[in-house]
Amino acid sequence: MLNGAGKVLKIGVLALQGSVIEHIQCLEKIDGIKVVEVKKAEQLLEIDGLILPGGESTTIGKLLREYDMLEPLQHLIKAGLPVWGTCAGMILLAKDIVDQNEVYLDVLDVSVRRNAYGTQLDSFQSSAVVEKVAEHDISLTFIRAPYIEKCGLGVDVLLVLNGNIVAVEQDNILATSFHPELSNDLSFHKYFINKIKFSQEKTYTGSHSG
Ligand code: GLN
Repeated sequence: MLNGAGKVLKIGVLALQGSVIEHIQCLEKIDGIKVVEVKKAEQLLEIDGLILPGGESTTIGKLLREYDMLEPLQHLIKAGLPVWGTCAGMILLAKDIVDQNEVYLDVLDVSVRRNAYGTQLDSFQSSAVVEKVAEHDISLTFIRAPYIEKCGLGVDVLLVLNGNIVAVEQDNILATSFHPELSNDLSFHKYFINKIKFSQEKTYTGSHSG
């Protein structure tokens, strides 16, 4: 097993714009993790998994292109790098963005609507049990959040809230409309870390290869 005792997992947080620090603070509370603030393409090769934070998807997408990170990241995700997009991060991963021609990483087989809750409900708080992630109620923070209108057959829906799909998984990709990093509950971060460990036991060799 690649993740034997003492093995430190390197988790990257894409640090171009958005709620980077909140994810870092969550990860720092979990043992056996080294956090990497990813700002350059080379750093993508050092990590075992990557979080794409919330923020402004258009800005993060533009910066990914400007810093020549979009294609390398896309290739790594297609090769199995575990990745978790929260809010804007979900939009960056999507293969289709409703009412927008431009897509970014184009890897998650969903059609996502930006700012889907409209202006009056720009931000709201809710809670739900996400069975696959934890047995208890998790607090959910939505900030100018997207939701998923349609998803392909290979996509596993983790949570539907008020009729809208707000958390999904597709192979090595996890995406949430909401911001688990803004609550004190580490369930989603732990779930993502377990997903990384599981994928390393299976196929992806990431920073451990060669
Ligand atoms: N509304 C933002 C966008 O479309 C996402 C908001 C967020 O990440 N909190 O990119």
